Amino acid sequence: MHVLVLNCGSSSVKFALIDPASGDNVVMGLGQRLGSSQASLSIKRDGTKEELLCAGADHAKIIAMVVAHLRENGLLDHVVGIGHRVVHGGSRFSASVLIDAEVETRIAACNHLGPLHNPANLLGIRLGRELIPGVPQVAVFDTAFHQTMPERAYRYAVPESWFLEHDVRRYGFHGTSHRFVAQEAVRLLARRENDCQLITAHLGNGCSAAAIRDGRSLDTTMGLTPLEGLVMGTRSGDVDPALVGYVADRMGWSAAKVIDQLNKASGLLGISGSSNDMRTLLAAGAQGDQRAALAIDVFCYRLAKAIAGLAVTLDRIDALVFTGGIGENAPPVRARTLAHLGVLGFGCDPTANAQDGRLSHQRIGSATSRTVLVIPTNEELLIARDTAALVAGR
Ligand code: ADP
Repeated sequence: MHVLVLNCGSSSVKFALIDPASGDNVVMGLGQRLGSSQASLSIKRDGTKEELLCAGADHAKIIAMVVAHLRENGLLDHVVGIGHRVVHGGSRFSASVLIDAEVETRIAACNHLGPLHNPANLLGIRLGRELIPGVPQVAVFDTAFHQTMPERAYRYAVPESWFLEHDVRRYGFHGTSHRFVAQEAVRLLARRENDCQLITAHLGNGCSAAAIRDGRSLDTTMGLTPLEGLVMGTRSGDVDPALVGYVADRMGWSAAKVIDQLNKASGLLGISGSSNDMRTLLAAGAQGDQRAALAIDVFCYRLAKAIAGLAVTLDRIDALVFTGGIGENAPPVRARTLAHLGVLGFGCDPTANAQDGRLSHQRIGSATSRTVLVIPTNEELLIARDTAALVAGR
């Protein structure tokens, strides 16, 4: 039994054919730079990688090629469902759902909240229906897991009409990753899900942290959009909102341009002036690049501050979990973040911390520290599991 997982971005499509029971990836691949002359599709299977150049190909062409590849290799025969990553479910979706016409309409009603992503996600759903007819489809939302946040956590202190009439509130993102690593942590700690209090830090190109109590998200660092919260690769995270008007006045820019710069030219890239990539910055910092070192310093300090803030939602911390490309692979980032968190009883074991996180789940806290875990995330597997469960329950 397999699930086809589709993640349609604005100019890319990721896919994976997954066995939800074993977690094995049968085939996976990526179509990128869609719509441009450099559009390409890579397909990985059995340790081999095929790279196809397909100039000008759009989502429809790439997904048709993926489906043709699966069909020619007999790989569609065991597909029980198609699971779609959908970025914004607004307040309308608090869990994954089987897709029907009404669900598609409700997703489209969230497009104003995720204008770059939701239309691409909906296009993937339509193409899935057309190209693999009769196979049930499931939507798994980035926002759904955080719908359990209490009102005090999700409301902004702004005029109520903004919330009531325009959906201005905190939603949170990366829900699939936070939920996946929380489930893994419960297993590793040998606790029951309804008795486990965690702080999870997903640190990739986008970064967010969440407080999770008994399997429910109580607060998270991202808000109305993924710009709020932690310092990220190219996003600023929290800034004084008055900065937008100030910079717009000083530079003669529109507010939209300032916000574009906060999304694309800020974060690690903005401070370092050289890269949004933590690997590059760690290497540059070690070579004496002061701006790279400062970018890492700000990143870790702000992360620690956010973790300390999230702690107020819990009455104990069973574990702090690091995940995502940085969380899993950057020991210096974990060590520096933990060094700021001594006040909460965290400390780092340098030997355990130096291991490669992708190789295994591991504990990296010192002997006297609260538990600190590094857990590789697997959002595609959670999408496949949700899809299989919903399809089985039809
Ligand atoms: P995305 O959010 O796009 O899925 P990832 O989770 O792959 O991104 O995370 C990308 C980030 O992880 C980049 O900043 C990258 O530099 C960082 N990263 C990946 N491997 C390492 C490594 N070995 N050491 C430090 N940082 C790493």
